[in-house]
Amino acid sequence: MDSIAVHAGRHDLAALGVHAPPIDLSSTYPLPDLDEAVSALDALAAGEAEAASPVYARLCNPTVRRFERGLAELEGTEDCVAFSSGMAALTACLLAACSERRHVVALRPLYGGTDHLLACRLLGIDVTWAEADTVAASIRPETGLVLLETPQNPTLGQVDIAAVVASAGGVPVLVDNTFATPILQNPARHGAALTLHSATKFLGGHGDVVAGAVACDGGWAARLRQVRILTGALLHPLAAYLLHRSLPTLPFRVREAQERARVLAGLLAGHAAVERVLYPDADGVQLRGPGAVLAFEVVGGREAAATVMESVRLVTPAVSLGSTDTLIQHPAGLTHRLVDSSAREASGITDGLLRLSVGLEDVHDLWDDLCGALDRVSVLQPPLTLAL
Ligand SMILES: *Cc1c(COP(=O)(O)O)cnc(C)c1O
Repeated sequence: MDSIAVHAGRHDLAALGVHAPPIDLSSTYPLPDLDEAVSALDALAAGEAEAASPVYARLCNPTVRRFERGLAELEGTEDCVAFSSGMAALTACLLAACSERRHVVALRPLYGGTDHLLACRLLGIDVTWAEADTVAASIRPETGLVLLETPQNPTLGQVDIAAVVASAGGVPVLVDNTFATPILQNPARHGAALTLHSATKFLGGHGDVVAGAVACDGGWAARLRQVRILTGALLHPLAAYLLHRSLPTLPFRVREAQERARVLAGLLAGHAAVERVLYPDADGVQLRGPGAVLAFEVVGGREAAATVMESVRLVTPAVSLGSTDTLIQHPAGLTHRLVDSSAREASGITDGLLRLSVGLEDVHDLWDDLCGALDRVSVLQPPLTLAL
């Protein structure tokens, strides 16, 4: 994986006579030969990834294409299609899978935005919320897609991908692989048709890019490219360059952050102000490591969680995850605020739950910071009443 990450998507560079990938910012391309232009346009409109000329930037971009090839190599899929955000990538998958069969089966919890997009029916697609063991019973003739995350955002629960694929009985399964990254999990190996990434997170890895990507086979990629051409949810070439630049360090960033997360999960579990810690137990088959995101519930609910968020100094109180710095956020109040409240509670997204995305700081410094913030909770619980 380390070698693939370093070289992925760079195989054409030596022939170009360069060492770093060039950035192609053209919005349009010269088309002196009309017959050639027509056949390039036809090929791209049919969903081909490349043609003799990119014709126009909404149809194709060589810099974006290099990042896509790189991620496909890491996921072990034939192809990959990049989008302007994770939500744009998800929308493209729903449009591609559900143009005729307008029903999806989805497993909660999901990222709050994904949950809300399905629940609000913006795309006119019906949703049945299922558990892993009710997927088969939830499939209808008009089901176009089964949708799940593993590890789940924000409670870190795991879903057996191969079991859901079997229950789906031929209906394509989309797995959001944002938390695990291709370094720790490759859903396509277990039968997922579509592997979705919010590339904003670990793939970008430095908190400065918003992007999405779908790793899949050639047939799905062609359909997704057609949707991308029609809806215009493009990844900008500068963003694609940054994402591609981050791939070589992805395995190192994930492993180093994971080591810190493992230590912090243990230490948090021993703190008096922490009720429970949620951190994946990697089986080594589907999930090759627990990853760098964990969640924990503080004693004292929302007020105690707010105290922790305002007390940290090294850790950044912010949504998002997968950056070089450690981020802490309150799912019930922020990322999962728009999720139906009873569904939120049923998924274990309680008022005292905090999600921690562990970065690359020294683990002792991280623990000092978190412990100091949690100690403030302990002294507030039970509330001190000063008799003056
Ligand atoms: C952030 C996130 C998304 C949405 O991605 P954006 O890039 O913010 O649009 C989807 N799924 C998961 C698991 C996420 O964490």
